[in-house]
Amino acid sequence: MSMNLKELLNSGITELSPYEPGKPIEDLERELGLEDIVKIASNENPIGPSPLALKKIQDYLEDLHRYPDGNSFNLKRALSEKFNLQEDRLTIGNGSNDIIEFVSRCFLSSSDSAVFSQYAFAIYPLVIQGLGAEGIVSPATNWSHDLDKMLSSIKSNTKIIFIANPNNPTGTFLPKEELLDFTSRVPENTLVFLDQAYYDYSSYEQEDVTFQDIEKYPNLLISRTFSKAYGLAGLRVGFSYSSLEMADYLNRIRQPFNVNSLAQVAAETALSDQNHLLKSLELNSREKQILYKEFDALGFEYIPSLANFICFDCKGDADQLFQLFLKEGIIVRSMRVYGMTNHLRVTIGTEEENLKFINALRKLINE
Ligand SMILES: *Cc1c(COP(=O)(O)O)cnc(C)c1O
Repeated sequence: MSMNLKELLNSGITELSPYEPGKPIEDLERELGLEDIVKIASNENPIGPSPLALKKIQDYLEDLHRYPDGNSFNLKRALSEKFNLQEDRLTIGNGSNDIIEFVSRCFLSSSDSAVFSQYAFAIYPLVIQGLGAEGIVSPATNWSHDLDKMLSSIKSNTKIIFIANPNNPTGTFLPKEELLDFTSRVPENTLVFLDQAYYDYSSYEQEDVTFQDIEKYPNLLISRTFSKAYGLAGLRVGFSYSSLEMADYLNRIRQPFNVNSLAQVAAETALSDQNHLLKSLELNSREKQILYKEFDALGFEYIPSLANFICFDCKGDADQLFQLFLKEGIIVRSMRVYGMTNHLRVTIGTEEENLKFINALRKLINE
């Protein structure tokens, strides 16, 4: 007997391809027998999380047989104190990708659509399509969200618009006024999901939309994460701030223990370590300028970035350069899934990591 699983599948899943993450260091070690591999592929904080957070985790190891706090009480309290928020309007996710799923599952079914931009974060189409809803791709301008085009992409069944600001993988940034003006112009019954995964980096350099702006725009939800500037990608914790009503709906479909106890205590502690955060942001700004200069000197065009990565034009087939970097023990990110066949994305690393990247780039273009 054979079973026709494909016929049982929810429509939408048939055409899905799994998300391709940055290549793990262990894979490359195994494949090429290399050591001292530099991974600058997944926009992780190169100096890691706050040492205080790591220390705090140690204290909680003996409680691992207990379920985590299903309401993340302490973390919500720490967030509301730091950002002046109402605790019951916060939703904590297993990474902010969890929040993308919650909002999508709350509002999208097969008769609905959601809008996102060309070159926007690859998770949006994955989640939308998995629900059998229609993903509408709005064309980008200069690698960035084109808000006017996004407005005109909205259909009567469009329930959510996803915007990542700064955007991944391009690093482009929309000024606060433009985003808020856009939000005031979307139809009343369309949600704006503002993904601020790189907020810490962008707001270090420019004014950005804050949680307080939600008061004037009830259809706006903001998500942020501990995976990037806070250096806790491995623990999976992110959060959103929204209207109280929205938070209530998200809470209905959230698994009761979606955020593990180590993630909760690490995030809470990391929030309090402003010094470590600033150190991370300073390093990023400084090293970004060094990389820009190097790209300029070598004649590579790049997309100016308000985040912790740079997308650059390889002046030819990016796949080939990607493979050459691997042989040098350097993992960068291919942009093939985004249809950007000439670009690679490099995460801004430590001084030594960036130097290794620069030296490899110089060497490879001279070969
Ligand atoms: C990295 C990233 C996230 C964060 O994902 P987590 O699930 O919080 O690790 C969300 N949105 C964008 C645009 C990102 O680049």
